[in-house]
Amino acid sequence: MPFIPKVPGSAPEVRVRDTASGELVPAARGDVVTLYVCGITPYDATHMGHAATYVTFDLLGRALRDSGHAVRYVQNITDIDDPLLERAERDGVDWRDLATREIALFREDMTALAVIPPDEYLGAVESIPTFVGPIEKLVADGWAYAVPAPDASREGAQDHYFDVARDPRFGSVSHLDEAGMMEVFAERGGDPDREGKRNRLDALLWRAHREGEPEWDGGSLGSGRPGWHIECACIALDHLGIPVDVQGGGTDLVFPHHEMSSAHGRALSGSETFAGSFVHQGMVGLDGEKMSKSKGNLVLVSQLRRDGVDPMAIRLALLARHHAHDWMWTDDQLAEAQQRLATWREALSGNGGPVADQTVDDIRAALADDLDSPRALEAVDRWASQALTRGGDDPGAPGVLGRALDALLGVRL
Ligand code: ZN
Repeated sequence: MPFIPKVPGSAPEVRVRDTASGELVPAARGDVVTLYVCGITPYDATHMGHAATYVTFDLLGRALRDSGHAVRYVQNITDIDDPLLERAERDGVDWRDLATREIALFREDMTALAVIPPDEYLGAVESIPTFVGPIEKLVADGWAYAVPAPDASREGAQDHYFDVARDPRFGSVSHLDEAGMMEVFAERGGDPDREGKRNRLDALLWRAHREGEPEWDGGSLGSGRPGWHIECACIALDHLGIPVDVQGGGTDLVFPHHEMSSAHGRALSGSETFAGSFVHQGMVGLDGEKMSKSKGNLVLVSQLRRDGVDPMAIRLALLARHHAHDWMWTDDQLAEAQQRLATWREALSGNGGPVADQTVDDIRAALADDLDSPRALEAVDRWASQALTRGGDDPGAPGVLGRALDALLGVRL
């Protein structure tokens, strides 16, 4: 936990746009706010899309703390999954070494971007023993069923699937109809054509061991490894309790990931909802396409850092776009962010400036309104422009504003 300076004055309650209801809702539902954000699959370096997501939820944590709440933040790492195994095989490295290397680089990137680390950062692998009991319970309670896996390494082995038809609230996160769900299910890790499933959308909970794959003791499920969605449901349940206040991630996680982990989590906890609100970060693209590992069109935080780009300029470039919208990364935006950073530094380095109280209020109001970071940056721009053109006679203003930028926006000058 880095040192976060105190900022004078007080902040309004933070409201966020909840994907499930479409409404602006308070992010906090009590003194302590529980935040669960889906983490990376560590097979490639952090690109701008990831960085945007974790900076957005960092901003939320900062705004919540500033408005008087404590934040309990848990993030997982999907350190066992098909894409990780495939990449390790392609590159001829051990999947554990690949994951360890990419997790270390991710944490370095996040530290450089001034992202406050989660209270708990949990790998799927270290948590596997805690998934088995809940999956067995889903089977015992009729939420899940076994499907024979003739290609498994042991005769009679079975995979286990969640029965989406059992869940009357299935669809309550994404509000997609079946056709809409089917459109993205396969490309986002689903297996609609798996023989023996009751419903094509049923999600894998436990995969029996296949030759060449790692395996863990699955109790009555047999040896194998977990599905992706159940990992987040179990970690959220164990470490925060369900419902969590805010479930976060990129918009590409709305379906199936958040729909499924919500369904699993509700089935396990008996809670009517999985989260008080679901907050999603829009996709960041490059050259007209979504930035993604599979397309290979990535702008990497680590590469920009190696090129000598100030991480604070990267952070400002991300904050210049509202989290709810998709946007395209361009070199011009980075250049604008670098210019902005230089201007702010110059304005804040004077012996005084215009009174900054209203600017701090404007930043707080913008963040409280669904994390409107572009509006917050514009408020600082106005102060900086005044300070540079007309000066000001408040000797404390640069200090107050500097602390506000650090505490609220995570921008250290
Ligand atoms: Zn997740």
